[in-house]
Amino acid sequence: MANKILIADGLSEDGIALLKTGGEVIVNPKITAEELVAALPEYQALVVRSRTKVNSKVIAAATNLKVIGRAGVGVDNIDVAAAVARGITVVNSPLAASVSVAEHTFALMLSLARLVAAADSSMKQNKWEKSAFMGVELNGKTLGLIGIGRIGAETAKRGAAFGMKVIAYDPYLKPQQIEQRGAEAASLDEVLAKSDYVSMHLPLTSETKGMLGAAQFAKMKKGARLICAARGGVIDEDALRSALDAGTLSGAALDVFAAEPPSTDSIATHPKVIATPHIGAQTHEAQSRAGLMIAEEVLAALQGKELRWKVMSNE
Ligand code: NAD
Repeated sequence: MANKILIADGLSEDGIALLKTGGEVIVNPKITAEELVAALPEYQALVVRSRTKVNSKVIAAATNLKVIGRAGVGVDNIDVAAAVARGITVVNSPLAASVSVAEHTFALMLSLARLVAAADSSMKQNKWEKSAFMGVELNGKTLGLIGIGRIGAETAKRGAAFGMKVIAYDPYLKPQQIEQRGAEAASLDEVLAKSDYVSMHLPLTSETKGMLGAAQFAKMKKGARLICAARGGVIDEDALRSALDAGTLSGAALDVFAAEPPSTDSIATHPKVIATPHIGAQTHEAQSRAGLMIAEEVLAALQGKELRWKVMSNE
């Protein structure tokens, strides 16, 4: 019997076409939680991005499911332990978006340095406030990365191209590995104390939740700028608000928030914050790659082939 594959979120046309070579494909990117639970017993494969929540209730209904594919990297919307306990394989496509997220990190960093968003908003009000928008350069400044995995390494490369000194804290890598990725290894305290720009590139885990709070902001260089296109929750947003109000930090640029979408009075509305709605991976190139890569991996799982990107836990 042919495999049935449910695509429950938006997926690139390339990815859909490839999946069709391996079974009957149903595309329903607006499926509700209740509809998903009702439909799932028929399916052998489920493909999602970040919209669909694959919680323990959904997994309990997945009586014939062999594989869950997450197009993209973060699996926070999937209860991986519950899936693994039922013998369901979880795979993702972690390489697809690294360049896009690193480029967005620089879009945010440059916008912070040159006040691009505020200048544009002023122009839209038919103003010409040239003297109000005195910026700073990236050249010669220290960029401190917290986490230097795939995206951190791409960010380090681009930092060097802008003439920045790049340092990084990553306790899971040896200093030589950090150097190979284009940064000088440093402790977290060193990154905080020395960096003009701090950029976060690590996952949200029980260890990293609220990792930058009041104590860490107090250790940062006066007037430093913070960029986060990793995961909401790694920053204590109340503490960030206080640090911005006190002038400890000059600004922050955030692509991710503890609650998404954030509340109407969230940190995204702070005048010293540049905010984007979790669009780090939102490029045609990244989405096309993510669709193709997850389709390859889901088909491999259905055919019992070797997997490149099996996810074993949410940590
Ligand atoms: P990765 O796994 O390649 O790298 C993460 C790095 O973080 C690893 O080197 C790991 O050792 C390090 N790390 C883990 N715990 C740490 C800690 N306590 N302190 C410092 N470093 C720590 O992942 P990646 O592909 O580079 O992705 C990084 C982050 O970007 C993830 O959170 C991912 O969800 C996020 N992301 C965001 C978007 C977006 O749209 N904004 C898109 C894709 C990925």
